[in-house]
Amino acid sequence: MSQKVVIVTGASRGIGREIAKTLAKDGNHVIANYNQSSEAALHLQNELKEAGLDIDIFKCDVSKRQDVQNMIHFTINKYGKIDVLINNAGVDQTKLFTDITDADWNWIIQNNLYSVFCCSQEVIKYMLHEKSGCIINISSIFGRIGGSCEAHYSCSKAGIDGLTKSLAKELALSHIRVNSIAPGAIDTDMNKNVDYEEVKKEIPLAKIGTPNDIAKCVKWLMEDEYTTGQIIEINGGWNM
Ligand code: NAP
Repeated sequence: MSQKVVIVTGASRGIGREIAKTLAKDGNHVIANYNQSSEAALHLQNELKEAGLDIDIFKCDVSKRQDVQNMIHFTINKYGKIDVLINNAGVDQTKLFTDITDADWNWIIQNNLYSVFCCSQEVIKYMLHEKSGCIINISSIFGRIGGSCEAHYSCSKAGIDGLTKSLAKELALSHIRVNSIAPGAIDTDMNKNVDYEEVKKEIPLAKIGTPNDIAKCVKWLMEDEYTTGQIIEINGGWNM
C-alpha cells in the first residue's frame, strides 16, 4: 500500500489508538489527535518511536472549529495534503431519556456529530483539490438499533450514518469515498461500566470485540477503491 497522510481523531485511547498504531505500522504518516489524554498520546508516540516509527500527535478538541482548523493547517503545512480522515473521537453517557438535559444533549451532539461535520468540512477542501480522498466515520450499533438510556448517543451515531451516505453521494464524482464503521461492543474505557457477561448473551459470536477488529476494517476500507456510502457493522452478529 502506498504511504498516505492520515488524521485519526481520538487516537489517545481505545479504538482510535489501535487504528493509529496499525496505520503507522503500515508506513503511513499518522496524525494522532487527542484532547485530554496528553500522557497517553505521548506514550503512543514513544511506543511507536521505539519500534522505529514516527507519528505526529496533535492536541485538539474536535468539537471546536478553531481547534480543528489548527490541526488541519498543521497537517497541510507539514505534508501538503490529507489522504484519509478517520472520524473516531466520541463520548458516551448513560441516562434515562427523561433525565437528559439540554446540556447533556448538546454535549453529545457537539462531540459526536458536529465534530464529524466540522472535521470533514475542513478536510474535504483539500481532498477536492487532490480529487481523491477517503473518510471513515466510526458510528455505532446504537445508531442502527437504538440504545436504551442512550437516546442522545444513538441519535448522534444515526446522524453520522446519514452524513456518511449524503457525503458519499455528493463526493463520489470527486473520487472521495465516505463510509461508516458501526461497531458493536468493543473492549475499551468507554465500556468500563458495562457488564460484558450480560452483553455477550445478546451476541451470536458470544464475545466482545477488540479495537483491532475495527482497525483491520479501517485498513481494508483505505485500500479498497469501490466501496462508498456503506455502513459496515462489526458486532459479532449482534445486529443482523
Ligand atoms: P474511548 O476509549 O473512551 O476513547 C475515546 C477517544 O475519543 C479518546 O482518545 C478521547 O481523547 C477522544 N475524544 C473524545 N472527545 C474528544 C474531543 N472532543 N476531541 C478530541 N478527542 C476526543 O472510546 P472508544 O471505545 O475507543 O470509542 C471510539 C469511537 O468508537 C467513539 O466514537 C465511540 O462512540 C465509538 N464506538 C465505541 C464502541 C465501544 O464499544 N467501545 C462501540 C460503538 C462505537 P482524550 O482522552 O484525549 O480526550
